[in-house]
Amino acid sequence: MKRIAIIGGGVNGFACGVQLAEYFKEKAEIILISELFSPDTTGDGSAGLWGPYMTLDTTPEKICKWSKDTHDYLKSIWQSEHAGEAGVCLVSHVTVLKKDEESSLKNDHFWKDIVYGYREITPNEMQKLNECRKIKYKEGVRFVTFTSEPKKFLPFMMKRFKELGGRCEQRKVQNFENFINQCDYDVVINCTGLGARELLNDNLTHPIRGQVIRVKAKWVYEVFSDDSSNGNYIIPNTETVVCGGTHQLDDYNQNISIEDEEFITKGCREILPGLLNAPIVKNWVGLRPGRNKIRLEAQKFGDKLVIHNYGHGGAGVTLCWGCGTEVLDIVKSKL
Ligand SMILES: Cc1cc2nc3c(=O)[nH]c(=O)nc-3n(C[C@H](O)[C@H](O)[C@H](O)COP(=O)(O)OP(=O)(O)OC[C@H]3O[C@@H](n4cnc5c(N)ncnc54)[C@H](O)[C@@H]3O)c2cc1C
Repeated sequence: MKRIAIIGGGVNGFACGVQLAEYFKEKAEIILISELFSPDTTGDGSAGLWGPYMTLDTTPEKICKWSKDTHDYLKSIWQSEHAGEAGVCLVSHVTVLKKDEESSLKNDHFWKDIVYGYREITPNEMQKLNECRKIKYKEGVRFVTFTSEPKKFLPFMMKRFKELGGRCEQRKVQNFENFINQCDYDVVINCTGLGARELLNDNLTHPIRGQVIRVKAKWVYEVFSDDSSNGNYIIPNTETVVCGGTHQLDDYNQNISIEDEEFITKGCREILPGLLNAPIVKNWVGLRPGRNKIRLEAQKFGDKLVIHNYGHGGAGVTLCWGCGTEVLDIVKSKL
């Protein structure tokens, strides 16, 4: 019987855990060790929107492969009896750029063939969109995508992992090398997100701070994202709507900033004035695990196999299932 340990109980740790447990069944003992579990992981405060975002130098080919696998997985949940429990929704999505932005959406959306119904907003539609707004947009696209609301998706994955025989243990791994040398696992999978910076002394991994506000606004059904450099976004989940947001590089501040709160409320209310009356449910700050390139690779430690899977930036939910599939493929090929 093989022994496998996963370190990290965020969305990436569980995406690996579920797929390993599904594949090995009772032929392997799988344990997931983590300092924090849901509702205290980075993903928990995010809206879980499918969309590659802030993945820096990771190649478009890899991002497309991993995000497509996740899209397929979310589709399978959406079409199953588990959709409600897992918080998976299919939502209409509008992305725009302000008039003074120099960049263009088309160049950034290399993943456009994965989502449903991707198309540019026509000049006529854009004129209508701009008619009753202070903010004027120059271009936009529409498509349909998934949200997998982590507040529901993470407990769903944890339950599935345990049903398949996986075990969870809450503790912090203080020293990676000592852990590997002293443990009796054949395989150790490192899904520690930003924690890898301290655990492995990996200075390429750094925080990208994100502050968001959740409001009660049951009447919001569509994702609206202004991708301009100073843009805001609005993402409906099943019970609340996420209004965002910030992306501050190398900022470790996990306290709520009043200026950021003002930026979010003012910007989102300009997009949707009805949000003025929406009660605020929660202010939240999370630190995205930024890295120039996502680290997904195998490393040999004596007779032990280590697989790193961290640094997913602003797209950890979008990429989790595809990255977990690649981790499983590595384990299958090396064991
Ligand atoms: C405001 C905001 C909005 C976002 N929106 C989206 C979105 O809509 N869509 C999307 O795809 N992504 C989004 N993201 C990004 C996404 O949340 C992250 O990329 C993702 O959660 C990373 O998951 P992870 O499992 O790799 O890391 P984490 O969720 O950070 O989990 C790491 C785990 O490892 C554990 N750990 C760390 N070090 C140790 C150690 N030494 N010993 C034991 N355990 C350890 C931690 O306790 C934690 O459980 C958003 C992020 C933010 C901040």
